[in-house]
Amino acid sequence: MSTKTETNEFQAEVKQLLDIVIHSLYTERDIFLRELISNSADALEKFRHQQLLEEDVFDPDASLEININFDDKEHTLTITDSGIGMTREELVENLGTIAHSGSKNFFKAMSETNRKDVNLIGQFGVGFYAAFMVAKKVRVLSRSYKKDADGWEWSSDGAGSYTISAADGLHRGTKIILDLNDDSHKYADEFTIKNIIEQYSSFVPFPIKVKGDKVNTVQAVWIRSKNEIKEEEYTEFYKFIANAADDPLLRLHFSVDAPLAIKALLFVPQENFEILGFGRQDPGVSLYCRKVLIDQHSENILPDWLRFLKGVVDSEDLPLNISRQALQDNMLVTKLKKVITSRFLKFLAETAKNDAESYEKFWKNFGIYLKEGATQDFTHRDSIAKLLRFESSKSEPGKLISLEDYVERMDDKQKEIYYINGPSRDALESGPYLEAFKQHDLEILYAMEPIDDFVFSHLGEFDGRKLLSADRADLHLPETGKEDKDKKDETKELDKPVADSLLKWMKEVLGDKVKEVNKSERLVDSPAMIVNPDGYMTSSMERIMRATNQDHPVSAKNMEINLGHKLISGVADMRIKDEEFAKSMIEQIYDNAMIQAGLLIEPRSMVSRTYEIMERALKAE
Ligand code: ADP
Repeated sequence: MSTKTETNEFQAEVKQLLDIVIHSLYTERDIFLRELISNSADALEKFRHQQLLEEDVFDPDASLEININFDDKEHTLTITDSGIGMTREELVENLGTIAHSGSKNFFKAMSETNRKDVNLIGQFGVGFYAAFMVAKKVRVLSRSYKKDADGWEWSSDGAGSYTISAADGLHRGTKIILDLNDDSHKYADEFTIKNIIEQYSSFVPFPIKVKGDKVNTVQAVWIRSKNEIKEEEYTEFYKFIANAADDPLLRLHFSVDAPLAIKALLFVPQENFEILGFGRQDPGVSLYCRKVLIDQHSENILPDWLRFLKGVVDSEDLPLNISRQALQDNMLVTKLKKVITSRFLKFLAETAKNDAESYEKFWKNFGIYLKEGATQDFTHRDSIAKLLRFESSKSEPGKLISLEDYVERMDDKQKEIYYINGPSRDALESGPYLEAFKQHDLEILYAMEPIDDFVFSHLGEFDGRKLLSADRADLHLPETGKEDKDKKDETKELDKPVADSLLKWMKEVLGDKVKEVNKSERLVDSPAMIVNPDGYMTSSMERIMRATNQDHPVSAKNMEINLGHKLISGVADMRIKDEEFAKSMIEQIYDNAMIQAGLLIEPRSMVSRTYEIMERALKAE
């Protein structure tokens, strides 16, 4: 064995890389530990594999683990593994040249962007060389698993060359000793080290011990097969990753091999903190590649509207050192996103079918996200539509139905799906919009959240049937043959010439406030209602747009008049006796109809007008 120390120059690319690593002001230097631990874990994995192939290995009984020690007086940090180790040639090849994945990609990106962007370091990880971000000197003591190999020490200050000399008495594996540089002394600290390990390396499949204390106690349950995992293990894992105190509401654990290899474990929490007023949630699912964290709370692997999910997605098809920017437009990631989203939606559909109670709970707290998805996500729109739930005129109060339920019990003659927005079931049922539906015995969905009309308008249709708001001006309800003829007696209506003149006069009285005043085919009990001539805009949508933007133009509405209503024939009579008072009446009817449409009116003139009308009523006594 040679006893002399040999000095070698680094390959030119390594020199460049080291120069960037050492002189950059990169702030997230913590990742150096993730890189070294990953290398150790790989080396342990390789050894485990090799041991199956070759019986005769060095130190066969050394336990497979990673040990981390530090000395806060000497400012050193030591990472030791009992992995496969490196021979002299391997040390030269692996640590003196760039032939391997991570650093190579880093270089490619550096030359492509042609800029010295220090943040690229964090995004790529530069593997072993990251050690030089925190160390002024790095020593690598390694002894290969091969029975007759020798031990070697590799050492460098990162300045252009490294030395190699023989080292005796080593165990199998690799020990990396970092002489921390002056502004990195904080890494010789138990709390700091444990924190970094917890963040990045919690699920490394070998024990990581800091001064003998095992830090990674939570197992990467997602890679194990479902039937081997106990309920408590899932719960413990969930609490760890979601920082939660209670059990999850729902859980989905699955793996697929095609189109790419994915193992995922997703949880729906019990509570929705967004509706509880905690502000917008950050995504809660992290991306791993073979148990090593790539992107924590990733924005790339799930659509924004699934931000309430907690969990882990692991794909070995992704390169470990992929950058966050690269994640955004990576084809694999796009595929990943689609596969996971579809699978989760399928799971929700199964839950709705097999465990209605859980689904109801889910819907109550998280339904709003699916509605958000329906308005944003074209790809998954149809699957989301099936998961939506609403009350309806034919559901019991508080009970929800799906669009499929609705379609299933539709009358043969009915071709379209109807809905109406309002603040509550009571408000909707006492308003004018439902009258015709009751009259025709048609079911109508109750949209009781502001977003609902946007959802319906984005969906456009369900199962080939148009979704129509009941406040559309052009709505024509089908004759079902179940109409209550007594309730709507058309012979009581005003004669056509009287009616035509009345409608024309009403339009004059209301002026620009309405676009048209028309005879209603639908009203039964109310004298009038407001409808929207623009089929895409409902009164509820308009209310929201105006609430968020004061300058939103008020679109002109139509008013429909129930010509069989007593109050309307009363207005016609009053017009002859006292036109001014008849005007007040029609203005009040308009304001009332606007209130029932949920649209803002100007209260001052309305209040004085109602007093006027009341005084008049008293006089008539
Ligand atoms: P990468 O891990 O992306 O290949 P690194 O610069 O981190 O790049 O490491 C270069 C090579 O050095 C690794 O591929 C591996 O062969 C070897 N190596 C690094 N650390 C260890 C270790 N602890 N044990 C054995 N081999 C190692």
